[in-house]
Amino acid sequence: MPKHIFVTGGVVSSLGKGLTASSLGRLLKMRGLRVTMQKLDPYINVDPGTMNPYEHGEVFVTDDGGETDLDLGHYERFIDESLTRSSNATTGSIYQAVLAAERRGDYLGKTVQVIPHITDEIKRRIQRVSTDDVDVVITEVGGTVGDIEILPFLEAIRQFRKDAGRDNVCYVHVTLVPFIGPAGEQKTKPTQHSVTELRSRGIQPDIIVCRSEAPLSEELKRKISNLCDVDEQAVVNAADARNIYELPLILHDEGLDTVALEVLRLETEEIDLQPWTALVHTVEAATRPVRIGLIGKYVQLPDAYLSVVESLKHAGFHHGAGVEIEWIQAEDVEGLLAQDRLAALDGLVIPGGFGARGFEGKIAAARYARENEIPCLGLCLGLHAMTVEFARDVAGLAEANSTEFEPTTRHPVIDLMHDQREVTEKGGTMRLGAYYAVLSPGTRVHTAYGEPVVSERHRHRFEFNPQYRSRLEQAGLICSGVSPDRRLVEFIELADHPYWVATQAHPEFKSRPDRPHPLFRDLIGAALDRSANRIDGMQTTN
Ligand code: GLN
Repeated sequence: MPKHIFVTGGVVSSLGKGLTASSLGRLLKMRGLRVTMQKLDPYINVDPGTMNPYEHGEVFVTDDGGETDLDLGHYERFIDESLTRSSNATTGSIYQAVLAAERRGDYLGKTVQVIPHITDEIKRRIQRVSTDDVDVVITEVGGTVGDIEILPFLEAIRQFRKDAGRDNVCYVHVTLVPFIGPAGEQKTKPTQHSVTELRSRGIQPDIIVCRSEAPLSEELKRKISNLCDVDEQAVVNAADARNIYELPLILHDEGLDTVALEVLRLETEEIDLQPWTALVHTVEAATRPVRIGLIGKYVQLPDAYLSVVESLKHAGFHHGAGVEIEWIQAEDVEGLLAQDRLAALDGLVIPGGFGARGFEGKIAAARYARENEIPCLGLCLGLHAMTVEFARDVAGLAEANSTEFEPTTRHPVIDLMHDQREVTEKGGTMRLGAYYAVLSPGTRVHTAYGEPVVSERHRHRFEFNPQYRSRLEQAGLICSGVSPDRRLVEFIELADHPYWVATQAHPEFKSRPDRPHPLFRDLIGAALDRSANRIDGMQTTN
């Protein structure tokens, strides 16, 4: 039976609980264990798919089409395993299952209650990922201890240790040790309160991970150990790191994986840190500046584009380049162009999105990139913008548009997919998850991937209208990847441009720190060429 680690958070949200859990997952993998991860989210939405990115950040899509919490992206990037929709459960989905069972009559005669029915369903979700092919399941409980919504989850994980046996479960609590300026001191009180709250729910943490700006002294760790009743070596300090990929090494130095394995009475092979240390060196050496404009709608909240940002960074690591992201509000593009403010960029990404706001700005950015030979990568809605721009400005279809934004457009070059026409519900009804595409030999995407058939994750309703394909191809557009039945266009590109590539998919979900996604890798490659040429050009004119 797999062992279980539960990660809870206290004091404040956004402590990096997901990164801590992911780092622990990586450390256990580096010891030869088979690890899977899961997130339990206390909110009532059935999944984050219908939530505004401002509310929740990016929606991470799994191969099997799950629309999940962005922490699953961290999990996949750190433990390098593809997860499924089972790795994310919300209060909403748990109640949905219990209520469906109640309607079916499964509980006939019984009063359906939070304890035991909701808590049993939570435990069932935890068991669902606890399969024979894993050694350790790490479950992160979203939210903060002390929240009303979190109570059934705490009760379920408390019961879980009773059911599974003491040595099979380890509780890790992540807290904050703030530095109070006027007192000039780091304070342990919030940690004490949070642990007291956790204990009042029957959970005594085995390990406390203290987030802090500066490292904690041994004395402070001793104090936390005494007051919170955990071993001194089980007080682990995660002081702010230079980059997130350093975190596993920091936590290992602090003994996190060693203590967790002791609690779980697990013996493993020696840890092999070498590949991860090499990665961190590569990250630190990636300093050659390259400026990429990200033309988005939700740019005030960078978490809305988390996987895109990570993919750009990974691609930078590969080239020894430090990617500087210029966050550009799509609605502002036309004004910025008038001031020639995009000329200093080395490359552009037009990411996915929903809703009309900013779409014309994305089209303007696409035009600028095409005409000025700026490397440009379009993702999902980005492909829509680049297709509309090409249709309007190159293929002579001045009124081209996407029917998402102009249902009666004369030239619907982007249109609703057939099987979407009858759909009335919003949640979980898009074309979701992994689909294959066949790439045309000799094209840029084929060269980038180095294979003829690729699989990428999707999340969209609208797409390239095949009725316009030959017209756009005659004007010079290359449809470089199509669905295996050849009906759907999945990749487009231009030949006479340094890098003008778009995909209907979301390749950002599959990039890894040590294995950058080929489309991002080649975007940054082309952007670095542009940057070098620009510097040369400047030197010649001087
Ligand atoms: N809004 C577009 C669609 O539904 C694009 C979605 C996206 O970019 N993920 O098709």
